[in-house]
Amino acid sequence: MRGPSPLPALKIPARGGYHLLDLRIPQCVTTLDREPDGEGCVRADITIGADGQIESVHPRGDVNFRYPVVQAMGRQVWPAFFDIHAHLDKTATWTRAPNPDGTFDGAIAASREARRTPWGEDDIYARMRAAALDAYRFGTLGIRTHIDSSLSRGPSGWRAFERLRRDLAGKMKIQGVTLFVGTEILKNANALVALCKRYKAALGPVFHPSVGMDGEIRKVFEVAEAHALDLDIHVDETGQPNADALRVIADLVSQRTFRQRIICGHACSLSLWPKDAAQSTINKLSAAGVGIVTLPATNLYLQGRTPGETPQWRGITRIHEMRSAGIDVAIAGDNRRDAFYPFGDYDMLDVFRDAVRIAHLDQPMAGWVDAVTRIPATLMGYDNCGRIAAGTEATMIAFPVSTAAEVLAFRGENRQLIERGRLRRGQAELR
Ligand SMILES: [Zn+2]
Repeated sequence: MRGPSPLPALKIPARGGYHLLDLRIPQCVTTLDREPDGEGCVRADITIGADGQIESVHPRGDVNFRYPVVQAMGRQVWPAFFDIHAHLDKTATWTRAPNPDGTFDGAIAASREARRTPWGEDDIYARMRAAALDAYRFGTLGIRTHIDSSLSRGPSGWRAFERLRRDLAGKMKIQGVTLFVGTEILKNANALVALCKRYKAALGPVFHPSVGMDGEIRKVFEVAEAHALDLDIHVDETGQPNADALRVIADLVSQRTFRQRIICGHACSLSLWPKDAAQSTINKLSAAGVGIVTLPATNLYLQGRTPGETPQWRGITRIHEMRSAGIDVAIAGDNRRDAFYPFGDYDMLDVFRDAVRIAHLDQPMAGWVDAVTRIPATLMGYDNCGRIAAGTEATMIAFPVSTAAEVLAFRGENRQLIERGRLRRGQAELR
């Protein structure tokens, strides 16, 4: 560990209940109603039962003692991470399909070229498994991945997905989304619905500006409603200021009520719209309960890129305005080591750290920790995860430092993972 002297590692009893005393917890992930410190954290004691559940969360010094005591010495403790938007089937394909110019179009072309020889199930499974285990190793409890689902690509990816979900069932919560270009809903709706039902997946169209886009969006919503499917949409991942799929969706959901969960990812072009027009769309999305997922690292890489010119735009959507309007905004990792993004190691702390710096999420420093924990867990349907609260599973990350700024400065070095109340075995392997 570099920097100021870290706190000694936690020692936690191997069985039985215990009190974990003197934690600093980001207030946005706990129910504790206390004045936070300057970083948005509260001092707390928590009681963990023999079954690994959190029995209670108290303000510091308010415990009713009945178990052995573990002193946390004021360290940062965060809930486990949830990565709500990944592309595990594409991961680690950069070397076979590098992006020729770093643009979004370059990524699409490279991806298409890479799949000219179809990927087999075993190849996809091996890459997905390595990625998911890296995520798990860094403290991610849940991951939702888009899987290419156009007719020629779907079957092997989904078979690999099902193996992965089964093999890691004791470790991670894994969900899928059927990724397809919007036009396919007009031709292949039945096949896409069948995939969603078979793998309990969300319907995942990609919408970019096109002549028929409005009709495709209406059709997608009709299909989702008819079959009670959740929606997880790639929308306006572009720097074209006239790209307005998000506005079309906002108008649709504000005219009628949809029962299913709706998530829109990227929405990059919204930040290039005039403020008033953007705010009107944001207000409609908020009123309809639409969740937003921002992918800052990928969009910093792909957007605003003109060869030979210095980039002027960070590529992200208006997440501050969205959050202020009451929208659930999650931050996720997106592509890693493929033509859309050649970097990344599935550490959600790294994703969060990038997001904090790209989008100025440091006021206060721990104010957006819920965007990689509680909010994505809730959007994935796990209302009892991603938070530190009574009645939830004690699956958390303990950092050997007392401030959120140090957690980010030192990239969470020497973090310890507490899984259902116990230290995860093999902790020494963690950096
Ligand atoms: Zn994506």
